[in-house]
Amino acid sequence: MSQVRTAPTESSLIGHYINGRVTDKPSDRTLEVTNPATGEISARVALADRATTREAIAAASAALPQWSAVTPLNRARVMFRFKELVERHFEAIARLITAEHGKVIEDARGELTRGLEVVEFACGIPHLLKGEHSLNVGGSVDSHSMMQPVGVCAGITPFNFPAMVPMWMFPVALACGNTFVLKPSEKDPSVPLYLAQLLSEAGLPEGALNVVNGDKEAVDTLLTDPDVAAVSFVGSTPIAESIYATGSAHGKRVQALGGAKNHMAVMPDADMDQAVEGLLGAAYGSAGERCMAISVAVAVGDEAADALVEKLKPRVENLRIGNGLEETGLEMGPLVTRDHLEKVRGYVDLGEQEGAKLVVDGRKRDFGDSNGYFLGGTLFDHVTSDMRIYNEEIFGPVLCVVRVPDYDSTVELINAHEFGNGTAIFTRDGDAARQFSADIQVGMVGINVPIPVPMAFHSFGGWKRSLFGPLHMHGPDGVRFYTKMKTVTARWPKGVRAGSAFVMPTME
Ligand code: NAD
Repeated sequence: MSQVRTAPTESSLIGHYINGRVTDKPSDRTLEVTNPATGEISARVALADRATTREAIAAASAALPQWSAVTPLNRARVMFRFKELVERHFEAIARLITAEHGKVIEDARGELTRGLEVVEFACGIPHLLKGEHSLNVGGSVDSHSMMQPVGVCAGITPFNFPAMVPMWMFPVALACGNTFVLKPSEKDPSVPLYLAQLLSEAGLPEGALNVVNGDKEAVDTLLTDPDVAAVSFVGSTPIAESIYATGSAHGKRVQALGGAKNHMAVMPDADMDQAVEGLLGAAYGSAGERCMAISVAVAVGDEAADALVEKLKPRVENLRIGNGLEETGLEMGPLVTRDHLEKVRGYVDLGEQEGAKLVVDGRKRDFGDSNGYFLGGTLFDHVTSDMRIYNEEIFGPVLCVVRVPDYDSTVELINAHEFGNGTAIFTRDGDAARQFSADIQVGMVGINVPIPVPMAFHSFGGWKRSLFGPLHMHGPDGVRFYTKMKTVTARWPKGVRAGSAFVMPTME
């Protein structure tokens, strides 16, 4: 029988998971965890200090020799059992995501499904670790490569995908034979703890996966501790950049994924209904709190722009918004915290001041007497590239329409933006779509696909200031990030004794 808890209560303290045990000892520093749909406090989360974080790193170090010696096939079997357990607890986990993040329940289920796909990918680890082999690189000399674990890995994750983003990291890292310390977002900390307990139930040894809740103090400890070999980070760009610099300066391999401002180009020949449907989900789903959300629609030509805005307006005004735990069939929930709501509202004020045309004003939407952090869908037209609402990541349900005259100015606009996470083009012209995917300086491209999040067996990552470090997450890059390559060159002489070589050796 599973020992996992199902939901925090107002009096609960959300602690850490270290060495196979939930720690709920009192903490000097705690933060409130709220239900964004009601504004009610659901629990408090402990913020790990340096000593507690060190305890988790020590547990991961101690577990490393045993776990890395488990055969890849047996590590895969733990992942298979974990997958089954997550499926069994699927609904409880999805509800916990909605309760702490606010996204609607169908969206929470979608997030968990995408996370599970990475677990399924990790189940194939014996195949993924096969390496390369060359017979006869020289006379009686063979070469093969080994992919060995890097050691203790750390993951630092954002609030917007409390299940999926940690699941981009730890299943691949563990399957590769590493041990792991996860530092989830303090805003929605319960799901990672739940997942860690399910992994223990699946047979992962104590200490192989630890979860420390916390803030900068825990993160700084992970970044500077000599026992941590690699750090994966997902969050906003300023933090990603500093994590990359500090982690690298301390000799760790680092992949740090940052923020985004994703553009969708709507060509004049696009199917406008398809483009509108795509935009609605991509801009307003999860209240725009997705790093792959479309926040800029680039309409090519005034005719396309007018048609797009006309079709979008009534749909944005009538988005179905509510408490994802109480209603089904919703399109959007609240923002994650009151502070974030105020920040996003501030951007709507700013857009008006900057002279963009406010077509739909989400601030005016009436949510009755709800104390939740709700904002209606917001639509700006005639946004220009010098405005802050165009340049900065808003991370809310705010879509900006930028009008451009032609294809070349579309590419120029998108390529000039500091972020390069995702983009999409809607068109019926295969030639334009093919050219766009070649020309565009963005890591993930959709052709008539509004949110082109790669599947688990491909890798996820942006370009420019959306990613610091060379390797993307999960898929082949995930395996590369969590393994060290070693190449063995072996001679098996048949009665021939090799002499000393004082020149650079070559193979004949
Ligand atoms: P955030 O940068 O505020 O926090 C991310 C993590 O860093 C959290 O665990 C947080 O506790 C920690 N952190 C925050 N401030 C810190 C500091 N000063 N020092 C050390 N650690 C710190 O991000 P968020 O608000 O949780 O998430 C939203 C951001 O994440 C958006 O910018 C979004 O685009 C980005 N994101 C990017 C991707 C991607 O794949 N590129 C995916 C999801 C989210």
